[in-house]
Parts: sequence; C-alpha cells; structure tokens
Amino acid sequence: MVRFECPSCGAETAPDCSPHCPQCGTEVRTCGEILFSSFDSLRLALLALAEGRDKDAHDFAYESWSLHHTVEAASAGLLAAVLLKEPVEIARWIRRRRRLLVGAP
Ligand SMILES: [Zn+2]
Repeated sequence: MVRFECPSCGAETAPDCSPHCPQCGTEVRTCGEILFSSFDSLRLALLALAEGRDKDAHDFAYESWSLHHTVEAASAGLLAAVLLKEPVEIARWIRRRRRLLVGAP
C-alpha cells in the first residue's frame, strides 16, 4: 500500500483505499499510481543490479527517478553508472543525489 501526503492539504492519503483525499477530496489515485510505478521501477533496478544486469539497472533507476525523485533512485542510478564506467552519468547521478540530500542546485 502506498501512503503519502495529499498535495493539496497535506493529510495522509492511501489511494489504494480511496481515490480521493479523506480531508479535502482532491483526487490522489493518479499520484499513487505514479509513486507505485516509481517504487516498482526502483525494485527492478535493484534486482537488475543483483543479477549483474548493469545497463538494465541504470535504465530502471532512471525510470524510477523520472517518476519520483528519491535518494534511493539516485543511489541505484549512481551504482549502475559506476558499474557501467560511464563518467558523465556518474557525475549526473552524484548531482541528483546531492540535490536531494543537501538541497544544492
Ligand atoms: Zn487533501
């Protein structure tokens, strides 16, 4: 089950239980589907890393990042880029991860 704060009022929502925020009525199912897809892509990235499929891992990490910017997606992407020995991608993932960790531009 995916839980997150309503983008309108900040109340905790569970779109698996209700497509609308229980406090303000905002439609939250679409946000829930995006977050679930991001988590699923991250899971696939981690599985690909464990199986030595570095290119797949990088693609799934980027997919996860595209849906939801998380430190976990940036970390998986960074690890995959290191394994692929892609210096440009390594630099990009470091910047993405740093932005989330310290709020740097
Ligand atoms: Zn709300």
